[in-house]
Amino acid sequence: MSKKLVVGNWKMHGDRAGNSELLAGILAAGPLPCDAAVCVPFVYLADTAVSLAASALRWGAQDVSAHARGAYTGEVSAPMLRELGCRYVIVGHSERRGGHAESDALVADKAKAALAHGLTPIVCLGETLEQRESGQTEAVVKRQLSAVIHVLGHCAGEIVVAYEPVWAIGTGRTASPDQAQSVHAILRTQLRAATAHADAMKILYGGSVKPDNAATLFAQADIDGGLIGGASLKAAEFVSICRAAQ
Ligand code: PEP
Repeated sequence: MSKKLVVGNWKMHGDRAGNSELLAGILAAGPLPCDAAVCVPFVYLADTAVSLAASALRWGAQDVSAHARGAYTGEVSAPMLRELGCRYVIVGHSERRGGHAESDALVADKAKAALAHGLTPIVCLGETLEQRESGQTEAVVKRQLSAVIHVLGHCAGEIVVAYEPVWAIGTGRTASPDQAQSVHAILRTQLRAATAHADAMKILYGGSVKPDNAATLFAQADIDGGLIGGASLKAAEFVSICRAAQ
């Protein structure tokens, strides 16, 4: 069985001194039983690359432009991220879909740009509370994933998917292991129809994952790791979640 993957999403937190302490704390824990990465604000990527150069911990960004270069003020391209040694980039986080009106099509184009330049996109998707309560969860996540499959074609097997119910992000309210597993199984089935690699793909769960709930979530058949927000800002919590991902 392949290793699970645990990725920290620092969001817009941190400063140079604090980041360096956080990364040192994670590295001090020694080898982790899973693959692990941190997705940091753009401005800290260069420092992160230096801090993690000799470690097994990977790093990445939290967004990327759909364009490789050009007159796109304020955007950061996939070739730029690659030059800074990024392995991953998060695309379609609900804070971007919601707060920045990112459409399914734009998220798919960002995933395509990432893959074209050697980055692994972590494609986030998930339903709002209102959508869940009105029975639309399956339709929403399938629509979000299908936009990406449509644009990537046979390359869809190269992405990481992160199921993040919007109502569980930063709220302290996590999906139950059964709720998460049932959506992950739907996504796996959809991926199987698109790529022969579906069973080897990573489908991460994100939404208030903490040291005390990580192991049960990660024990589910189709949960291949986690995308961790708040708990990735404390070395001890992040390490403990990684250790739960055996
Ligand atoms: C996230 O930001 O992707 C996330 C899952 O946040 P949290 O773990 O804080 O809910």
